[in-house]
Amino acid sequence: MGRFISIVRQIVLWLVRVLSRLGQPMVKSESPPNVIPITSKAEPEKPRVIKKIVIHCTDSRDSLDIGAAEIGQWHRRRGWLKIGYHFVVRRSGLIERGREENMIGAHVKGYNVNSLGLVWVGRDNCTDDQYQSLVKLTRYLMKKYNLPIVAVVGHWELNSGKTCPNISRVEFRQTLEKEMQ
Ligand SMILES: [Zn+2]
Repeated sequence: MGRFISIVRQIVLWLVRVLSRLGQPMVKSESPPNVIPITSKAEPEKPRVIKKIVIHCTDSRDSLDIGAAEIGQWHRRRGWLKIGYHFVVRRSGLIERGREENMIGAHVKGYNVNSLGLVWVGRDNCTDDQYQSLVKLTRYLMKKYNLPIVAVVGHWELNSGKTCPNISRVEFRQTLEKEMQ
């Protein structure tokens, strides 16, 4: 009998939960839970503490020559405020700014608060110009935020389900080291 009551109680509790949700607006399921909503468009006055530089690729066809504007459109369609990355390196090697550095990005689950997100446009072949720009940009940010080489990581190092950014970590770090000398 006690068991029967507990089952009935669970069903009632479940019904209350379902009914209480009916009046609430739908939450976009694609919106990642780790993105802190930003209410103001102005940059926060206090600079963020940056501990990591996370490298990404857009995972778009290599023939697609897109930049921050297009990626911003994709991300806004997901319900985000704006582009989730802080910097975009186009196929030509041109570097475009995305989200302001002082703003928390939306690019790596669990590590957005203290990181910067850099993305190269493409999937398989990072062009030479792109690679050089990515190295220069990373070096510039390492100096600016006083970060060691181990603070530079690929997306996959923080999320084992990914292969992003599809470039060799070893090679990239070696190139960074050479640039530092
Ligand atoms: Zn990524």
